[in-house]
Amino acid sequence: MEFALFCTRVNVLIVLLLALCSPCQFIQSPIDFGPLDLLQTTNTASLDFGRIHFNSPSAVLRPQSPKDISVLLRFLSASSYRKVTVAAKGAGHSIHGQAQALDGIVIEMESLPSSIEIYREGQGEAAFFYADVSGGALWIELLEESLKLGVAPRSWTDYLYLSIGGTLSNGGISGQTFKYGPQISNVLQLDVITGKGELVTCSPTKGSELFYAVLGGLGQFGIITRARILLQAAPRKVRWVRAFYDDFHTFTKDQELLISMPELVDYLEGFIVLNEQSLHSSSIAFPAQMDLLPDFGTNGNSKVYYCIEFAIHDYLSKDTNVQQVVENVTRKMSYMPSYIHIVEVSYFDFLNRVRMEELSLRRIDLWDVPHPWLNMFVPKSGIEEFKDLLMANISPDDFEGLILIYPLLSDKWDTNTSAVLPADRVVYVVGVLRSAKPSAPACGGACVSDILRRHRLVAEAAVGPRIGAKQYLPHHSSPAQWRGHFGRNWIRFATRKAQFDPLCILGPGQGIFQKSPLNL
Ligand code: FAD
Repeated sequence: MEFALFCTRVNVLIVLLLALCSPCQFIQSPIDFGPLDLLQTTNTASLDFGRIHFNSPSAVLRPQSPKDISVLLRFLSASSYRKVTVAAKGAGHSIHGQAQALDGIVIEMESLPSSIEIYREGQGEAAFFYADVSGGALWIELLEESLKLGVAPRSWTDYLYLSIGGTLSNGGISGQTFKYGPQISNVLQLDVITGKGELVTCSPTKGSELFYAVLGGLGQFGIITRARILLQAAPRKVRWVRAFYDDFHTFTKDQELLISMPELVDYLEGFIVLNEQSLHSSSIAFPAQMDLLPDFGTNGNSKVYYCIEFAIHDYLSKDTNVQQVVENVTRKMSYMPSYIHIVEVSYFDFLNRVRMEELSLRRIDLWDVPHPWLNMFVPKSGIEEFKDLLMANISPDDFEGLILIYPLLSDKWDTNTSAVLPADRVVYVVGVLRSAKPSAPACGGACVSDILRRHRLVAEAAVGPRIGAKQYLPHHSSPAQWRGHFGRNWIRFATRKAQFDPLCILGPGQGIFQKSPLNL
């Protein structure tokens, strides 16, 4: 039975490949293609959160098992269909078409049967928990499942409706990163199907080159079908604090103070408060009245504020007085006197806070709109200059969205992975998360292009030697820019590509490699 199914799928793949060579002919003769869908779903496969690029594939694969993916990639890499490319699509929350494959095949990872298994290893003090999760599962699913056993991953993203494989292909960062490193520093093992169709289980000690290549690898080396994620005891509640500043230097000094206290602080982020709207839209999940900032100035003379957001886990144990810990920490900070709010929420609601913002934005039709986002890693040495550069390219009055700024520690990142960071030990994440409003004052096509142009100017200036920044979730338009992005790691990146995906089948939407000949 299994064998018959397998054979059917191989046949399906062969027909698919023939169809890719003559799509018109195929459209005239619809056939049942099992997990392969050539017509109905290519529209969704050409769409992502950015709504800026819409590259249609010729086919969509909805795998029922990792074997389906392996069969496809083995066939493509052994055949002469050298033009066919393949992109894995997780939750499709990329901005610049990174999970798209123009005229190629998109593999919808959510079709893989979702599987989350939680294990405990070792005894007593040495015991630890981990989860084996399928690559297309969402982080919210892992949270819900692991909390049933009182455990949870250590490192998160702000938004949890992202796929495991999608964030591990980038980094996966949030307010816990300063303490535990990014999500790619919290993975014990992976199942990967390489560009050659080989199904490999890899870890830091077995197949380590593939393991590290895939983490932060932008989908270039293989498709993650399963990940083993480290877990820890989950707190029941969280003390969530917001403190406001009117001076950038004081704001960043306090952020750096907080990340120097990992034994007390469990989460740290921060954002620029550009206007009333940005304060309210970023406070939907924060259960305190936030309309208190003194004055945003008038046209041409805008004043901005800064908000530090930190959190302390509460395990509800008798030994720790969390309120006392909060007081000890805040006493050392230099926020605007009395501009501080402290609330208590459940751990689940805290981690899932962006979902509330999503639902609120959906209600006013502001979620499914273009998102011209820019994410940068900026070394501490250049953060003041970067902030000035950014602000010179932004008009606070009509800014729709949020600007996140918070520090990480680069020594929590494993340099063997494919992710790249600036050289400083303290590195700031700056996320310019803009929405293009469809209604008055509307931000239409020209407006989105203008925002993207300004982001390019900011990014190009920032990656220069004066500031030395790197893009996160990078988007570059030329081979020279990609080489510059990886810097001294470029040779390693290209060598790994030649080893694991020599025909450059995978990840065409990133635009790093052209299909053969391989450009080393
Ligand atoms: P997709 O967009 O589907 O894919 C992204 C890339 O990964 C593509 O190149 C794709 O081919 C590849 N890929 C996908 N699945 C696999 C797989 N199984 N194996 C190999 N390659 C694969 N990021 C953060 O780090 N921190 C945040 O706090 C954060 N918040 C966000 C909030 C929102 C609202 C949004 C839209 C994005 C946010 N991101 C954040 C960015 C997000 O982590 C990346 O865009 C991530 O790639 C999204 O995951 P996805 O499943 O949607 O990936």
